[in-house]
Amino acid sequence: MCERNILSKAYPSWICKECLKKILFIEKRDSQICFRCGSPLSNRCLCPNLNNNIKMLRGIFIYDGVGREIIHKWKYSNIYFIKDYFERLIIRRFPVNYPQFDVVIPIPIHFYKRITRGFNQSNTLAEFISKRFRIKYTPNLILRKRNSKSQSLCKNYKERERNIASAFKLNCNPDNFTNSKILIVDDIITSGSTVNEVAKLFPNSEIYIFTMAMAV
Ligand SMILES: [Zn+2]
Ligand SMILES: [Zn+2]
Repeated sequence: MCERNILSKAYPSWICKECLKKILFIEKRDSQICFRCGSPLSNRCLCPNLNNNIKMLRGIFIYDGVGREIIHKWKYSNIYFIKDYFERLIIRRFPVNYPQFDVVIPIPIHFYKRITRGFNQSNTLAEFISKRFRIKYTPNLILRKRNSKSQSLCKNYKERERNIASAFKLNCNPDNFTNSKILIVDDIITSGSTVNEVAKLFPNSEIYIFTMAMAV
């Protein structure tokens, strides 16, 4: 991303038009992506890693290049206008084939990470989705038990899976969600192992996943 910001009324003003064009949006048209995991057909499919109750997963853009930079700027500098931009993307690009959900759940981050980072990006996204699409928002339904090392430090899926295994605990009775349609929200999805662990907590629910960026 270049340093050339174009300050005009045209939104967004913090990124120049040329850089904006470099964001790799994942096509909405289902013929170009895996119907279940939302990966572009030219890339690797996440389906073999996903628990049976995960019905669908969709991301808006590829976590690479400019897409990766804006996620980083948002995560580590909490620049509010990036949040505004992401909200606009959600309005325009939220999957049309997603059903009406009973509840939306953000992926929790550990207490210590929240202190050092100031906010939980998944909460911010889930809260917006809840308001926009009128879905019940339950941020404290899942607790993070261990401060597992960052998934980005793991080399491969097996290592990610081991690192995240049993990292989450349910703060309620899963029977309350039998036959429910649950939307799980995360900011970035790499291997799918984190959302997969959360999906396992709701064995009798239909799980749909939404993320801003996919590292596929
Ligand atoms: Zn630029
Ligand atoms: Zn797939």
